[in-house]
Amino acid sequence: MYRPSGNGVVTKTGANGRVFIFEVEGLRQGENTDKLNFPIRRSGVVYVTVPYERMNQEMRRIARSGGKIVSIRPAGEPLPETSVATVSQHQSQPSEENSQPITEAKAKTEIPVNTYRPNNPYIGKCIENYELVGEGGSGTVRHLTFDLSGGDLRYVEGQSIGIIPPGTDKKGKSHKLRLYSIASTRHGDKLDDKTVSLCVRQLEYKHPETGETVYGVCSTHLCNLEVGADVAITGPVGKEMLLPDDEEATVVMMATGTGIAPFRAFLWRMFKEQHEDYKFKGLAWLFFGIPYTANILYKEELEQLQREFPDNFRLTYAISREQQNPEGGKMYIQDRIKENADELWQLVQKDNTHTYICGLKGMEGGIDEGMTSAAGKFDVNWNDYQKTLKKAHRWHVETY
Ligand SMILES: Cc1cc2nc3c(=O)[nH]c(=O)nc-3n(C[C@H](O)[C@H](O)[C@H](O)COP(=O)(O)OP(=O)(O)OC[C@H]3O[C@@H](n4cnc5c(N)ncnc54)[C@H](O)[C@@H]3O)c2cc1C
Repeated sequence: MYRPSGNGVVTKTGANGRVFIFEVEGLRQGENTDKLNFPIRRSGVVYVTVPYERMNQEMRRIARSGGKIVSIRPAGEPLPETSVATVSQHQSQPSEENSQPITEAKAKTEIPVNTYRPNNPYIGKCIENYELVGEGGSGTVRHLTFDLSGGDLRYVEGQSIGIIPPGTDKKGKSHKLRLYSIASTRHGDKLDDKTVSLCVRQLEYKHPETGETVYGVCSTHLCNLEVGADVAITGPVGKEMLLPDDEEATVVMMATGTGIAPFRAFLWRMFKEQHEDYKFKGLAWLFFGIPYTANILYKEELEQLQREFPDNFRLTYAISREQQNPEGGKMYIQDRIKENADELWQLVQKDNTHTYICGLKGMEGGIDEGMTSAAGKFDVNWNDYQKTLKKAHRWHVETY
């Protein structure tokens, strides 16, 4: 049976064989939409009938074509004849794109999505904003908490929210939203289900032509946000990084920098908070890449968890500017993966192991290198194997 959530989004549970109707706004005629198999109107809503197996692929295709899915519902509910278009079953060939998870949604948990949209964001209040980088570290990374008590924004670990910075861009248009991974559990840092926390690095770089220091619009807005100030929030979004329900699972987490955010939420849920319905008994292994010790975000808490749960939580740092790899170079996360590759290879083969990668774009390359050499020892092609993991929704990547 399908399980629509409060806002109409369908979770994976038992939905195989079902057909769903997407209500889509704003599609543009173009290369991508030409493949959609139905005419795009100049205005108004289009309804697209999609077999369950193709939902994820269609969602991406619609997004690429500029469309916005307003709702998803099971086929069978009455709809205006003329506005229904069908995506044919024969397009439903297995493909790499198709193999991405629609959701690793938990059987019991409905995943909220887009409760607040950019045209009507939730206006929260900043109730906490503190520095996470210690003395001698590089850059600025802040932990921020927003009060949500006046609205309906609910989320689960592994999702993101959007932030709309105030003001306008160079063209005089309102700024677009920026996504940030949620760093708190669904219960929030105050455990009252009324807050959401982020971990934000202030973007700062030298302009390649002028050499001037440039600061990112939204990250600077957030890092400088005063306690008590308003903040425009959208979402939540994201189903790629959800934590499995299985309390016995092995959860391997690989983070660089602010990529720690969703893993803070995972670890807090697994170990820090006490839940009647979720008592983690598996293995959580965090690989964390940072330049300096002072850049180890949430260091005290992570190390305390390791001390308290030595059998269930392993913590491996790669501190690039302070540690050396076996070749005498800087110690990056991929060097730690290589160092532990045989064990990781054994772990990823278990049916209940989930691997998550979050942080800097490009970090996957090094991780694949490490896994290629480990799998290679057993004559296994890592590329092919990774595809099967992705298909099984056990290899999760969110890099930016
Ligand atoms: C799913 C997701 C989750 C994310 N989670 C987090 C998170 O938890 N924490 C976090 O801090 N960020 C996160 N981000 C990144 C975040 O969304 C913003 O992209 C980031 O904060 C920068 O936004 P900004 O408005 O400050 O920068 P902008 O003002 O938008 O500037 C960004 C632009 O600056 C330019 N630029 C950037 N670096 C350079 C450079 N070195 N040289 C030349 N030009 C450059 C590029 O054109 C880039 O598009 C996430 C992104 C995604 C997609």
